[in-house]
Amino acid sequence: MRLILMGPPGAGKGTQAKVVADHFGIPAISTGDIFRANVSQGTELGLQAKKFMDAGEYVPDEVTNLMVRNRIDEDDARPGFLLDGYPRTVAQVAELDGMIKFTGHELDAVVVLTVNQDELVQRLLQRAEVENRTDDTEDVIRRRQELYAEETEPLIDVYRERGKLVEVDGIGEIDEVTERIFAALKSVRES
Ligand code: AMP
Repeated sequence: MRLILMGPPGAGKGTQAKVVADHFGIPAISTGDIFRANVSQGTELGLQAKKFMDAGEYVPDEVTNLMVRNRIDEDDARPGFLLDGYPRTVAQVAELDGMIKFTGHELDAVVVLTVNQDELVQRLLQRAEVENRTDDTEDVIRRRQELYAEETEPLIDVYRERGKLVEVDGIGEIDEVTERIFAALKSVRES
């Protein structure tokens, strides 16, 4: 099972990614989490990524792609994986296509969580208090939303044209949204 979970910052991707990946017995691979772990461990990768993350900008493709390639190569990702926060640019889509093709598999589905703008900003400001993330200030939140609209939203059409896309309403209780994701995946896998 090879899945992508997409959605704007604050759509609840991280929460859902873990539940869905556990259900299928595959790792949830969050590029944001990997970057954050590297930043807190002070690795070379962390040092490279931090300035982009703090400004709400995307980490350059070549850095991100190599990191994902290495992660997907690990043993636990052999039966499949769920990507959370990758791909985010058209160039990353092409890279991922190559990585999956190389393993002789196919992408099964791309789930997009949809949440309206007001709800997103509310959620992110709340998260800023709880998690103390340095990229959850109001200006940076706005920049991250902008970048999502410019660079990442176009990916939705790319995957829709491939017939892999399922859109899921991300508003509601966590369990409700999870159930919607499972129902949507069932329909795309049966189609
Ligand atoms: P996230 O936790 O997914 O919101 O990611 C936090 C930050 O990590 C983003 O704002 C980017 O700076 C960086 N990041 C995560 N995934 C990617 C990606 N696929 N491409 C570029 N930068 C990324």
